Amino acid sequence: MKDQFIIIKGARENNLKNISVSIPRKKITVFTGVSGSGKTSLVFDTIAAESQRLLNETYNSFIRHRLQHYGKPDVDALENLSVAIIVDQKRIEGNARSTVGTITDIYSLLRLIFSRIGKPFVGYSNAFSFNNPQGMCPYCEGLGKVSTIDFDKLIDKTNH
Ligand SMILES: [Zn+2]
Repeated sequence: MKDQFIIIKGARENNLKNISVSIPRKKITVFTGVSGSGKTSLVFDTIAAESQRLLNETYNSFIRHRLQHYGKPDVDALENLSVAIIVDQKRIEGNARSTVGTITDIYSLLRLIFSRIGKPFVGYSNAFSFNNPQGMCPYCEGLGKVSTIDFDKLIDKTNH
């Protein structure tokens, strides 16, 4: 049961005041709070930094010296951490069809999984792409939202 949580004890990175939390693994967790409350210090500067540091330690010194260096974050304990994929907070260049999936390239792997599991009936993973006319939702054309014009707001129907 305990390994279903990332356990953080005594995080003090930047402005964090000895924070201890358990974050469920394999679930989506949202960190909210006012600006300056320490969301970035906890998520990026503590959890992601330690994950990246542990990953870098698995490489030989030749490769390690060429990677970005991550110092050990100021925290008493960080347990059950797995490899983190860090998606920057900044808006990454892209277009209306860019998603977390496309930016991190997880999307290509997901399409591959969907094209292989279960009973294969199309063969090509492109058929699961929201950028492909065969795979996209016919209503929103793969954009996830539909923009329409509200004619009542566009045209003043009152008689003057
Ligand atoms: Zn749709």
